[in-house]
Amino acid sequence: MEPYVIDPEVEKKEILRRYSGLLRAAHRSKSTQDKRRIRKAFDVSLEAHKDMRRKSGEPYIYHPIAVARICAEEIGLDTTSIVCALLHDTVEDTYITLEDIGNLFGSKERMIIDGLTKISGVFDQSSSNQAENFRKMLLTLSDDVRVILIKIADRLHNMRTLDHMKREKQLKIASETLFMYAPLAHRLGLYNIKTELEDLALKYTEPEQYQEITDRLEKTKAVRTRFINKFIVPLQKALEGEQFKFEIKGRTKSIYSIWNKMYKKKVRFEDIYDVFAIRIIIETPVEKEKADAWKVYSIVTDFYQPNPDRLRDWISIPKGTGYESLHTTVMSPTGKWVEVQIRSKRMDDIAEKGFAAHWKYKSTNEAAENNLDEWLAQIRDVLESNDDDALSFIDDFKLNLFSEEIYIFTPNGDLKTLPKGSTALDFAFRIHSQVGSQCIGAKVNHRLVPLSYELKSGDQVEIILSKKQTPKTDWLNFVVTASAKQKIKQALKEERRQIASEGKDILRRKFNSLNVSFLSVNITELERHFNLDSATELYYQIAKGRIDLKKLKGFSVENGRISFDKAVVPVKEEAPIKQISTAPGKSETLLIGDENQKMDFTLARCCNPIPGDDVFGFVTVNGEIKIHRINCPNATQLLSNYAYRVIKARWAGKEMLQFEVGVHFTGIDDVGLVHKITNIISADMNVNMKAISFESNDGIFEGQVRVLVLDTAHLNTLMDKLRNVNGVLTVERSESTENS
Ligand code: MN
Repeated sequence: MEPYVIDPEVEKKEILRRYSGLLRAAHRSKSTQDKRRIRKAFDVSLEAHKDMRRKSGEPYIYHPIAVARICAEEIGLDTTSIVCALLHDTVEDTYITLEDIGNLFGSKERMIIDGLTKISGVFDQSSSNQAENFRKMLLTLSDDVRVILIKIADRLHNMRTLDHMKREKQLKIASETLFMYAPLAHRLGLYNIKTELEDLALKYTEPEQYQEITDRLEKTKAVRTRFINKFIVPLQKALEGEQFKFEIKGRTKSIYSIWNKMYKKKVRFEDIYDVFAIRIIIETPVEKEKADAWKVYSIVTDFYQPNPDRLRDWISIPKGTGYESLHTTVMSPTGKWVEVQIRSKRMDDIAEKGFAAHWKYKSTNEAAENNLDEWLAQIRDVLESNDDDALSFIDDFKLNLFSEEIYIFTPNGDLKTLPKGSTALDFAFRIHSQVGSQCIGAKVNHRLVPLSYELKSGDQVEIILSKKQTPKTDWLNFVVTASAKQKIKQALKEERRQIASEGKDILRRKFNSLNVSFLSVNITELERHFNLDSATELYYQIAKGRIDLKKLKGFSVENGRISFDKAVVPVKEEAPIKQISTAPGKSETLLIGDENQKMDFTLARCCNPIPGDDVFGFVTVNGEIKIHRINCPNATQLLSNYAYRVIKARWAGKEMLQFEVGVHFTGIDDVGLVHKITNIISADMNVNMKAISFESNDGIFEGQVRVLVLDTAHLNTLMDKLRNVNGVLTVERSESTENS
């Protein structure tokens, strides 16, 4: 690098030259007032930074001018953004204060600069702090997207001028760029900037591989150009014949994406550089662009055979980022595949400049605008409710950033965008957190599916709700969106908290009756005694009946304080209680009697039954039900002498005792009928559904459900209940074992 020589006269001229370059680029700021605001920001910034230099030795003001120019030229931002870009480093690095900005320019500018200053310290720490800082940075997104757009412009210029930094600093900045800025730029639709950020970052993180790919691209350039030129000749003629105003660009893959394929997916360079893409950009009014794009498609496929699997119509349904284009892949005469992208000038503008370009075409692009708003609202949602480890949040977020999108329709035809792999439950949470929480199933294209059903693009989804439903722990296994995960975790936590507060009341009453004060020392003593980590856990176990306060023994009370007699450490009888509390939660429901009802019961001391044991119920003289093991020492005596007091009992979760059967039903299609049926099966009867399908024809529905039942009595009860539902015509046991 040549040393920088300071010459004040030359610099003065150069500063003015760069400034007028910015003005030319800011073609959207045409009014005198806009120009005056930019001039004022330039003057303030120039004065504030006048004694500062960049690492290269150049005057510092080059940097804010360049950032402002990127905002104007490459992102297409407005005057306010240009003003803020010029001032973006003043509050942090000079004597200028936020108050000054507010007084000199206005509250909007003050807010944006405040956001920019706050996030400038991002990524200064260890990896986990990076994540936390990034979270903070994204939070400012909710204030004004311009903050993040200017920040990206700032980063782009720093990446372009990274040569002058020390090696460690280069590595740090480059990896941050790959970690966050490139994905962000991508999500905001700034494709060109994203590509440049990635390429520049690679140049510093993998200098040799970067150089290798650059060289090989250079060497093969002539061959590629010749091929493309030949390929487009007939298209050009035909398009001219149809009076199209158009431009055709040949496109090569970015260095970063080639690198990614070569080094991560182990594809040979020869196999990548060989994939060609061209872009046909037509000039056409908005109302004709869709029809014209298809006309061009028709011309292209007149000459070259298209691959029907590779047709992508992002004009009818734009991507979540607002991207619109028609893509097809066709076979060239030499047998090479060529991707052809067809789009209008407006679409191309949006594809290159992303979100910002929407402003220019606002009236015609409300959908994309709404999409962005929706996306920002989702991020805000997740961020504001997030109390998890920040790193896991970043992972979810990045997953959502990169994953492809699918398009799902609501019953009334509204379109929702979800990441690929989303399930019916994700969709329910996307509609509303309450819809998600009460979701028991869904109809996808009118067919009943379980919550975990993975949706495909184009599905129409109707969510089935039940007021009795609450979020379940296993839901976390099949939702993919960060916001759904967040909401489920929150609900589970809340549920646990509520149960614990019931347990707290129970304990308080117990203490009262024992003349023990409700003091934290006493609570701690109990925690220690039962070997639990927290008071919440203690209350929770009490409410769940896993700690039986009736059996509190071996403690003494003195002045309202409780203390366990160390010599009488947990009495022997406590052991079975612990055993029960370690059993899997779901299995603890007992179904008692012929109706398999849930009734209150206690577990017999003599044999300590645990979930999974073969058991029976015994009605005591007080009318209580005690549960004994079949092989309890007392069983023979009880069963032979008091047979009339014995009732059936089975653990609900004991699946080996359950049998799968099919039930076929017909009825009159009615809103809520499917809901009623699934509700009876899953909530009222507590029966597991293995599969369910549902079809409706001219008002008559036919359904097939496969359920797990304990025995025929159980099945008959279920079928009787289903027959009693209004609108159900027939309910029959089906012998076929196939899922329909
Ligand atoms: Mn800066």
